[in-house]
Amino acid sequence: MKNSRLAVIKDKRFGDHKTPESHPESPERISAINDLVRRFESEFDYLEPREATEEELASTHSPGYIEDLHKMAEVAKNTDSLIGIDPDTVMSPKSYTTAKLAVGAALEGVDCLAKQTHDSCFVAVRPPGHHALADRAMGFCLFNNVAIAANQAKAKGFKRIFILDWDVHHGNGTQALFYDDPTVFFASLHQHPFWPPGSGYRDEFGDRDGEGFNLNIPLPEGTGDVGYLKCLDEIVGPICLDYKPDMIIVSAGYDAHKDDFIAGQNLSTVGFAMMSQRVADWRDTLDTRVLCLLEGGYNTHALADSVMATMRVLNASGPEELGQVHASYMVPATISGGAAATNDSQPDKVSELIERIKEEQGRFHGQLKL
Ligand SMILES: [Zn+2]
Repeated sequence: MKNSRLAVIKDKRFGDHKTPESHPESPERISAINDLVRRFESEFDYLEPREATEEELASTHSPGYIEDLHKMAEVAKNTDSLIGIDPDTVMSPKSYTTAKLAVGAALEGVDCLAKQTHDSCFVAVRPPGHHALADRAMGFCLFNNVAIAANQAKAKGFKRIFILDWDVHHGNGTQALFYDDPTVFFASLHQHPFWPPGSGYRDEFGDRDGEGFNLNIPLPEGTGDVGYLKCLDEIVGPICLDYKPDMIIVSAGYDAHKDDFIAGQNLSTVGFAMMSQRVADWRDTLDTRVLCLLEGGYNTHALADSVMATMRVLNASGPEELGQVHASYMVPATISGGAAATNDSQPDKVSELIERIKEEQGRFHGQLKL
């Protein structure tokens, strides 16, 4: 062990979940990340994933749903074919095992943070999870990795978990699973209107005991580094610091990258590094832990570079080292993203949105003077 701050969990078996040719959520996403991590291998410690048990899955998903997915994978195996669950989401012969390995990897991450061997962990898995509901797969997602990790973290004694979902799509599954739960705060920045339809609106504040513990920031298409960082600095950060979580989980999707074809946001790789720096700052201010679980990100170069940016920033030991990490992301030969800049196409819309959200969330977080 190198005794890095950040533990990394990666495994080539996350490529065993197959999707149709030309499907954006491809096994190549994992190989691109693994290839780049190999170049920086000596910087981090590594942990081995394990398969989650069915009992662990059942902390979040209905037993009938788990059984249905299992059966579907058996059919895929016996017929050596891909079975469509919906137009976007498929089961391949090894999908069930791979999805259980993805959840188990997330739980290994929870364990290492509980044991305090590391204060941060990045888990580079697929299939992704944040759209999966208790009893329904959707949007490339089978099991909700983040939600199961949060539930298992609670079972291990963590009291308050703050989930930051910066994937370009709204994390509807995660939101639904904790909508009435004040012990899990869900905050999402996403392009809006976009997919999935019908969720991710500003006025989804949570329900019953969970009212005031859900924050949606529906961003206009074309939002870039400055807009995203402004949202973190003016809304998400103050709320997170006030909530004082003992674990921050990042639903780390990279499909808001300007080079990603699936959406229309303008984040650069440096922008992702700077967002990761905000998370590292909250971690250090609160003396808390950070678990990052991979969600989307479909331009494999932009994905791998941005994942590496997050890993290196979370692993940096102080401002000086962080400065060096950022400088390294300015080198175009190794990194596809440009410098963070005013690349927002609609800065006024974003500023107006931030003011509205401050007003609305002020109902619950008035003491923050958002
Ligand atoms: Zn996404």
